[in-house]
Amino acid sequence: MVLKEIWKNGRLKNQPSISQKTEYKEIWKNVLTFLERDLSKGEIATFLGSTELINLHEGKARILCPNRLTMEKLRTRYAAHLAEAFQTVCGGEHQFSFEIKPFENTIPSDPGTASQPSLFHHAPPNGLAASYSFENFVVGLSNQLAVSVARAAVEQPGALHNPLFIYSGVGLGKTHLLHAVGNSVREKTPNARIIYASAERFTSEFIRSIQSQQTAATFRRKFRGVDVLLIDDVQFFASRTASQEEFFNTFNELFLAGKQVVLAADRHPAEFKNIEQRLVSRFAGGMITDIQEPDLDMRLQILRQKAAAQQAEVSEDVLLALAQQLEGSIRQLEGTLHQLLAISQAQKAPPTEELLKAVLRTAPPASAFIAPQDIIGSVCRAYQITSEQLCSANRSREVVLPRQIAAYLLRQISRASLHQIGGFLGGKDHSTILYGLGKIEKQFATDEILKNQVESIRGEILGKNR
Ligand code: ADP
Ligand code: MG
Repeated sequence: MVLKEIWKNGRLKNQPSISQKTEYKEIWKNVLTFLERDLSKGEIATFLGSTELINLHEGKARILCPNRLTMEKLRTRYAAHLAEAFQTVCGGEHQFSFEIKPFENTIPSDPGTASQPSLFHHAPPNGLAASYSFENFVVGLSNQLAVSVARAAVEQPGALHNPLFIYSGVGLGKTHLLHAVGNSVREKTPNARIIYASAERFTSEFIRSIQSQQTAATFRRKFRGVDVLLIDDVQFFASRTASQEEFFNTFNELFLAGKQVVLAADRHPAEFKNIEQRLVSRFAGGMITDIQEPDLDMRLQILRQKAAAQQAEVSEDVLLALAQQLEGSIRQLEGTLHQLLAISQAQKAPPTEELLKAVLRTAPPASAFIAPQDIIGSVCRAYQITSEQLCSANRSREVVLPRQIAAYLLRQISRASLHQIGGFLGGKDHSTILYGLGKIEKQFATDEILKNQVESIRGEILGKNR
């Protein structure tokens, strides 16, 4: 008994065997790979690059950090991400404790908190991350409609916009907004039952639940007993599966009971390939709103807010330079600001424009320097039309297809934003571009010839610019 306890609490906990170490390494690698979905590579390298999973036992994960800054980041900013990653990689909910590598822990800190591993419970069962609120969500032209309908859903859940469906490209605030709705309802009505889950999580919990009648019933009770259901990344529901069916039934039951459902996805419901038509028409039965890319003013405002939240002093010039450099994803904007602050803190140097330049140099998209006109030119040559035709309002198929291909390649090669692509293609609306991109990707799935044609145009463009 005593021996067994020592084994359990001593050796197993503190000194994992070699095979366990290899397993932890593998798990940690998978966790980091999963995080790439939500975080930029630069952010992962800066904050997670030198971390390690040193123990995992009965849902308790111990993570070793190179320094205090990293430890704080993992505990606060990346807590929700880690919980979700572990949920996906290992299944179940986890508690995390963080430790600083002893020999690198040279920064003096408060006695009592420094080397004590800090244990905290994460991923409360409702999945809500408290740090995403309406208060810290900057409102601008690009998201004001989405915010106002989301607030209306908080004021009168289930009554005005049900379901509420929010879509946008990545990193534009959908997840933040879903959590904000949940947190805000909870503030107003502390007893309200609220669940936030991504479609992936709904699916994985569902799959685990069908192993026994009892767990299946618990799953049903959990999801069908809520007042507000927030489902993120709806595009991840796989085609014609039992989990989609389960979601459909859950949705119907909640809807009929007048409960609020809020959904987020990377595209308009009409663009779903995998999701059954009856579900799509349910989605479309309520309010659909998109979030667009923020303009310069809004980007600057977001940066000011994020810097203030970290109590970091960054000059307006530097914030403006950053806002000018990075368009599109707010996640990328935020990630770059965090990298800048981390490096400035590590080097004990102020976050100047020079430092910003250095940070931006570390992650330039490899092919950023191919001119959009080169891409448009190559597509026009391949389809024997002029660039005037390509950029015109002509809707005939001979022109529409090359235009959509140009949009696709501009997105892929130049990483241009939808708004920019619209501009390059003669002032098209960003939703037209989004629609076209969806169509082309759909065609790729069935049309090998088209796919090869586009690949060869891409090869020509990249080859010329090498
Ligand atoms: P999405 O789910 O659309 O990919 P997220 O909600 O994860 O995007 O947002 C990415 C990051 O950008 C998050 O850290 C979020 O807090 C931040 N963010 C997005 N929009 C805003 C905004 N309007 N104001 C403040 N922060 C924002
Ligand atoms: Mg998201």
